[in-house]
Amino acid sequence: MILLLIGPPGAGKGTQALRLANQYGIAHISTGDMFRDISKNPQTALEKEVKEIMTRGDLIPDDVTIGLVEERIKRPDCEKGFILDGFPRTVPQAEVLDKMLENVHKPLDYVFLFEVDDEALVERKAGRLFAPQSKRVYHKTYNPPKEPGKCDETGENLIQRDDDKPEATRHRLSVYQKQTAPVIAYYDETKRITRLDGMGSMDEVFTSLCEEIDK
Ligand code: ADP
Ligand code: ADP
Repeated sequence: MILLLIGPPGAGKGTQALRLANQYGIAHISTGDMFRDISKNPQTALEKEVKEIMTRGDLIPDDVTIGLVEERIKRPDCEKGFILDGFPRTVPQAEVLDKMLENVHKPLDYVFLFEVDDEALVERKAGRLFAPQSKRVYHKTYNPPKEPGKCDETGENLIQRDDDKPEATRHRLSVYQKQTAPVIAYYDETKRITRLDGMGSMDEVFTSLCEEIDK
């Protein structure tokens, strides 16, 4: 099973991807998490550039992103299927992904588009807490950790992502409108998009995703 999760920053993609990966026993591939790992302790010029781009809230160049995904989906844990969370984010990425899947004769099962009001997006990003090691995501109000500021799984300190600060947040929304909205049109042309009401609770959104997949 191959699933794509598309939606603006803060829509709930990562939260649902983790649940879906557990439910269906498939790999969770978050390009954002992969880039955060690369930029954690930047040494090379490329790693430093990745960090700068992410902090600004811009997109990493397509060739770098595509190369990373191409390698990742060849790994054994992707044999049973995978969820792409945050990829593709540009039309060239979507085109290359179609070619990659065609070459290995694997169909794309679902392209889920998370629809969430701008106001809720701002609130979700402003309260998002991130555990750099375990990659778990919490929310100050909607999904608080058991002990304030600590990850339930590892006990590590939770942080606010630099790109969740107000300025980068606004910029990331405009990047989404300019560069990622055309990806929706790309999949719409071939009627491959499944729109999803992302405004419900985490459990409600998860239930509607599973209902759609189990149909
Ligand atoms: P969010 O969860 O807020 O949607 P992500 O964690 O998916 O954000 O991505 C964080 C950052 O990583 C992006 O702002 C961008 O800089 C980079 N990134 C992630 N996925 C891609 C991609 N497919 N193409 C280019 N850049 C990406
Ligand atoms: P994305 O990967 O699309 O950027 P996340 O899954 O990281 O989004 O969610 C953004 C923030 O909103 C996180 O703090 C998360 O805990 C919270 N969140 C996710 N889904 C919901 C929901 N349905 N209702 C309320 N808050 C949510």
